Amino acid sequence: MDTIEIGTKKREEIIDLTREVSRVVAAAGRREGVCLVYVPHTTAGVTINEHADPDVKADILMTLGKMVPDALPYAHAEGNSPAHMKASLVGSSVSVIIAEGRLRLGTWQGIYLCEFDGPRTRQVWIKVI
Ligand code: ZN
Repeated sequence: MDTIEIGTKKREEIIDLTREVSRVVAAAGRREGVCLVYVPHTTAGVTINEHADPDVKADILMTLGKMVPDALPYAHAEGNSPAHMKASLVGSSVSVIIAEGRLRLGTWQGIYLCEFDGPRTRQVWIKVI
């Protein structure tokens, strides 16, 4: 297993991990398989979406913000329940096929770390299977 550490800079932020994950896959030297990307946090997640137009990242954050209001009567005393809800909506892992030694992503796809309660130091665990 490989670990990538990312220092997020904003409260909410979507960070492209595609290059880092590709590097891990290349170093693993596996021709065929699956790459599991896992985020071991409760207020951050990982998703796959368009990496050509950066506006898509902003739209994802805006839409999640509409779906998860800040002003609900949340019980969680830490005060960051919206971040927990968004992390569950996005999910904690993605799997990508490895073919001919490379990540088999669609033309427009990138792998994104989704920060919902930053800035923090986040880990991304990567397992080539
Ligand atoms: Zn919390």
